[in-house]
Amino acid sequence: MNVSTSGSWADRARQLSIEGRAFIDGSYRAALSGKTFANVNPATGRVLTEVAACDAEDVELAVRSARQAFESGVWARMAPVERKRILLKFSELMSTHREELALLESLDVGKPITNALNGDLPSAIGCIQWYAEAIDKLYGEVAPTAPDLTAMVVREPIGVVAAVVPWNYPLSMASWKLGPALAAGNSVILKPAEQSPLTAIRIAALGMEAGLPPGVLNVVPGFGETAGQALGRHMDVDAVGFTGSTEVGKLFMRYSGESNIKRIGLECGGKSPHIVLADCDDLDGAARAVAAGIFGNVGQVCNAGSRLIVEEPIRDALLERVVAIARELKPGDPLDPATRLGAIVSSAQLSSVLQHVQRGKDEGARVLTGGERVLAETGGFFMAPTVFDRVDNGMRLAQEEIFGPVLATITVDGLDQALAVANNTIYGLAAGIWTRDIRKAQKASKALRAGVVWINCFDKGNMSAPFGGFKQSGFGRDKSMHAFDKYMDWKAVWTAA
Ligand code: NAP
Ligand code: MG
Repeated sequence: MNVSTSGSWADRARQLSIEGRAFIDGSYRAALSGKTFANVNPATGRVLTEVAACDAEDVELAVRSARQAFESGVWARMAPVERKRILLKFSELMSTHREELALLESLDVGKPITNALNGDLPSAIGCIQWYAEAIDKLYGEVAPTAPDLTAMVVREPIGVVAAVVPWNYPLSMASWKLGPALAAGNSVILKPAEQSPLTAIRIAALGMEAGLPPGVLNVVPGFGETAGQALGRHMDVDAVGFTGSTEVGKLFMRYSGESNIKRIGLECGGKSPHIVLADCDDLDGAARAVAAGIFGNVGQVCNAGSRLIVEEPIRDALLERVVAIARELKPGDPLDPATRLGAIVSSAQLSSVLQHVQRGKDEGARVLTGGERVLAETGGFFMAPTVFDRVDNGMRLAQEEIFGPVLATITVDGLDQALAVANNTIYGLAAGIWTRDIRKAQKASKALRAGVVWINCFDKGNMSAPFGGFKQSGFGRDKSMHAFDKYMDWKAVWTAA
């Protein structure tokens, strides 16, 4: 597979040959059943390619290969500095192929090529590189025991890890699992979302080329109920790193309890509050952040600031600015480098978002802009950025994760009410607050029940800080050294003097 290095992105897309098979035990292969499913380009509604529909029997093969690789020690017992070398090579190969990978990502999920190139790819490449560089700096402990006893507390890889990921940032989400899980010495089976398998399938070969032994990285595309469930219930899978909806996260806990109590790490949904207090001295900046926080990636973001919680005195001035930005943000062809807003991932997801919008209207909230499908003539699944005002936090519009470009504005009176509304949700992934009063900011940062809090900014992050949720947004953390906790176990080793 390759992609030419000149011509428009549309030309390059036409010349691209796309791999749709699973990658198991070091080679590409069809599902054992021979079944495939159609992978649709959300920007055109047309079929891009057929993809292997892996099922329990393919998962069985992948787990066997992963287990065999793990037990052989070919990866797990390799010196960390050697694993580092191979993972750095992996990230370099991803970088060499970044245009091809960005194009695959754009075609697969309707994401603007510019965003894929400048956002998703650097994020994924940087993540693999970060964990490669971290793994030979991860020390154990010596416990303060007694003169005649030594206890070493050592970290060990957990074994066979399944990574089950969603479609909104396919490569990036996969990398957040692969980076720490592979660096730690585990064997991994990656199950991409049915809507977005292409980059996962492609990087498996790059991993092999970098030197990952067969069985250490397997990719099984397929459906959640078949391939995903088979991984969740497998007796020989030791841990699952999951990113996706809260509903499916709960299923993984059930699968674990009904099988081998495998470790589960969950990064689930959100309904993040974005608070703007009346003393905010940068309404333009806040408006830009509010808009970016809900319209970026067409709102298909787990930590999207989907609830704008604003004090009455500045509400109209802020909304005027947010609505102006929303109207300027026009969805367009993802392969046009000027496009900043792409398609919704699928026809089903577009229908779901439009249903939420209709329900919001029925509940009595008011649409200030957007609310409808656009560019239907392209065959793609595009939607205009949508702003609701007069939302009550009790409405479904304010409680349910929409995962689309839909902002719900709730008016409050003072910080205490803002915090009460912010926390009144089953989720706790992220929260933001704009204020120039340091005391209010600090009070909020302590009171907000969320795994990430942004003060006078929104959606900031890099590999150095952990990411993950409170409450029904999940548990365990991606990114930073804390991510190793999901993929490693502690062992206490006692030696008598
Ligand atoms: P999803 O439906 O929960 O799917 C996530 C993954 O689970 C997919 O690979 C899916 O496979 C699989 N799956 C679905 N049903 C399953 C089942 N019954 N058993 C086992 N596996 C199953 O989520 P999504 O629609 O792809 O993504 C959107 C959700 O992800 C949102 O709720 C969003 O908030 C969340 N998310 C969270 C974060 C975070 O870091 N907290 C980041 C991104 C997204 P198939 O798709 O192939 O069926
Ligand atoms: Mg697709």
